[in-house]
Amino acid sequence: MTTAAVIGAGFGGLALAIRLQSAGVQTTLIEAREKPGGRAYVWEKDGFTFDAGPTVITDPACLEELWALSGQPMSLDVDLVPVMPFYRLNWPDGTNFDYSNDEPVLRTEIAKLNPADVAGYQRFLDYSAGVYHEGYEKLGAVAFLDFASMIRAAPSLARYQAWRSVYSVVSSYVKDERLRQALSFHSLLVGGNPMTTSAIYALIHKLEKAGGVWFAKGGTHALVRGMVALFERLGGQLRLGDPVVEIETSGDKATGVCTASGWRESFDSVASKADVMTSYAKLLSGTERGRKVAKALERKRWSPSLFLIHFGIKGVWPGIPHHMILFGPRYEGLLTDIYKTGVVPKDFSLYLHHPSVTDPGMAPEGCSTFYALAPVPHLGKAPLDWEAFAQGYGDRILDEIERRLIPGLRERLVTRFHYSPRDFERDLGAHLGSAFSLEPVLTQSAWFRTHNRDDLIPNLYFVGAGTHPGAGIPGVVGSAKATAKLMLEAL
Ligand SMILES: Cc1cc2nc3c(=O)[nH]c(=O)nc-3n(C[C@H](O)[C@H](O)[C@H](O)COP(=O)(O)OP(=O)(O)OC[C@H]3O[C@@H](n4cnc5c(N)ncnc54)[C@H](O)[C@@H]3O)c2cc1C
Repeated sequence: MTTAAVIGAGFGGLALAIRLQSAGVQTTLIEAREKPGGRAYVWEKDGFTFDAGPTVITDPACLEELWALSGQPMSLDVDLVPVMPFYRLNWPDGTNFDYSNDEPVLRTEIAKLNPADVAGYQRFLDYSAGVYHEGYEKLGAVAFLDFASMIRAAPSLARYQAWRSVYSVVSSYVKDERLRQALSFHSLLVGGNPMTTSAIYALIHKLEKAGGVWFAKGGTHALVRGMVALFERLGGQLRLGDPVVEIETSGDKATGVCTASGWRESFDSVASKADVMTSYAKLLSGTERGRKVAKALERKRWSPSLFLIHFGIKGVWPGIPHHMILFGPRYEGLLTDIYKTGVVPKDFSLYLHHPSVTDPGMAPEGCSTFYALAPVPHLGKAPLDWEAFAQGYGDRILDEIERRLIPGLRERLVTRFHYSPRDFERDLGAHLGSAFSLEPVLTQSAWFRTHNRDDLIPNLYFVGAGTHPGAGIPGVVGSAKATAKLMLEAL
């Protein structure tokens, strides 16, 4: 029987392992931490359930497909519930904008901001649907292994003016600045600066509208556990708490892996979803190839990091929706601080996650679970002493939420803890503590991104956020589809 090792049990590694195992490849999934999930880790604290990362589940069909490969329904393992509105966007002047795929409601919301923008929004939607079809439906799960594949994509890239930024394209359709922010912030969800990221990423807007926004009952980690259950039912082996320290090679072949505990196993092929820099610089450090690619990756642009504060409070807040964005007084200036100058801004744009409003089981009775997330520069741009800085920074975020949304928040606190760029670096081996791997700019997308199969070691593969198409659950699950196709074709 053909064997494969998949390194890293985040969404990308799990999706790839399920695909391989479903196709009859005996697959071993090796995870460094004691729980699977990667960015989608989970903590249980004082009766509260805190999901570590992804919370906005889009394109459920790409997940259902993983169960369908073996003729099983996803509902066997996971209960997905719709979230409405998708998000509430809030500005410092008190304006709220509820964003969803309920068209009449959305038009009314847009008209409240600027009636003249309703028609422009419709044209933007057509644009977004076009890039979604070309960029996601046609190319989102197809590997770009040679430059010719990039040339083939060029006409679509030109048609949709991919060299322009998301914000620039959005601004050509709508005039109200708040609406421009509301329709362009989505690229931040995959690590891209709306001011510089290719307009192709406007496809996320259509992706959300077409497939909806969902929440896994019990939290995102319930979805991870469901994927693990499926993988193990299919006969796959999961090895937890044992980081891979070396991908072994012989000539131009990967031959197996070796872990920190000293476990060593031979495999017919190896796929890594460890951070792409870690994979080449550390796991392949004994090879010329590893050293060369790591050097090239050093010159790339890495997406920013994040600071998260998780908190559980007394009281329930039915008026605060599941997902909120609290925009700050600045948009472009804030993004420049984070992406260019490397300054941790004094003001914030925050994403606020409130899962207990959808699933009260995420908190003890009469209490609520939240996390607030602020994008911050990665450690290469701002090498701060986060150990010293984090408590005060977290306090300022809580103050902002108390002022704008939850009066008396500090007195209601039952538990709180934070997660900083240093934690991304330490727990996940994330280069520079980047939350989303390589920054999604046009010159680092598709063929310009780490290839799903190594150019010189033909049975060594890559999957996850650092590969095509990029970060986000649909992105890494798409990368798994592209990588699995290559691996299965090579059998
Ligand atoms: C705070 C946050 C919020 C987000 N919100 C959303 C959202 O709402 N919706 C959305 O779609 N996306 C969201 N994203 C993005 C999304 O979570 C990620 O892009 C995606 O989960 C990455 O999956 P992955 O498989 O590429 O990597 P990861 O999840 O990072 O998994 C990599 C795994 O590899 C393991 N590993 C690393 N090195 C080794 C080694 N040497 N040996 C063994 N194992 C190793 C790690 O421990 C980890 O478990 C968010 C990301 C963050 C950080």
